[in-house]
Amino acid sequence: MVSAIILAGGKGKRMGAKISKQYIELNGKPLLYYTLKQFLSCDEINKIILVLPKEEIEYCRNEVLEKYSLKVDLIVEGGKERQDSVFNGLSAVKDEGIVLIHDGARPFVSKRIITEGIKYADLYGAAAPGVTPKDTIKIKDDKSFSKETPKRETLVAIQTPQVFKSNIIKECHKRLKNDNLIVTDDTMVVEAYNYGVYLYEGEYTNIKVTTPEDLILAEKLINVVD
Ligand code: C5P
Repeated sequence: MVSAIILAGGKGKRMGAKISKQYIELNGKPLLYYTLKQFLSCDEINKIILVLPKEEIEYCRNEVLEKYSLKVDLIVEGGKERQDSVFNGLSAVKDEGIVLIHDGARPFVSKRIITEGIKYADLYGAAAPGVTPKDTIKIKDDKSFSKETPKRETLVAIQTPQVFKSNIIKECHKRLKNDNLIVTDDTMVVEAYNYGVYLYEGEYTNIKVTTPEDLILAEKLINVVD
């Protein structure tokens, strides 16, 4: 059983728009449409769980799912932080198998990234796509002076979907809640309990639409991604 949790439970404050960023239109269709379409057209995915803020469920149902005939299996309420939304999504995964956790704000994920994630998670328990950062990355001190420059070839900018065996990610998220740890993604959740995450080749086009300038690129990418 392969389940995909699509996270759209955030408000996207960094976008500075009036509507939540998952509904911002790209070429006349909401951003979330493109994300869901990629997963719906992937034969390996058996179940799609969409996580939304409680107050947006009805709007999303009418303006995205019904309007564009997108069929998800389950809609789940989001939580305060991203990790709370993931926890709620995982609680709806009842079957053993593979779980993909994907940012709804990454509409240009390719089929290759999805299928390779499933393959590597099956082999190694946990896998995530990533790309080598294009910029030199610094670690700074608390006075904003450069402290260290890690070698670029050792760095990976991590994307989603992050893909796991369901028993591993469910166990780690439960422990995280008990231990009150804060994380920014799900690779950190399993790393906290000493599981290794296999990092495979992501794509520079698999952007997370976060700030207004990302929308300019997103409009162009619509026609590039398969
Ligand atoms: O805020 P960030 O860019 O890390 O959000 C990544 C994804 O997590 C977005 O798709 C957002 O909708 C989702 N999210 C969520 N619940 C939250 C916060 C973020 O589902 N409470």
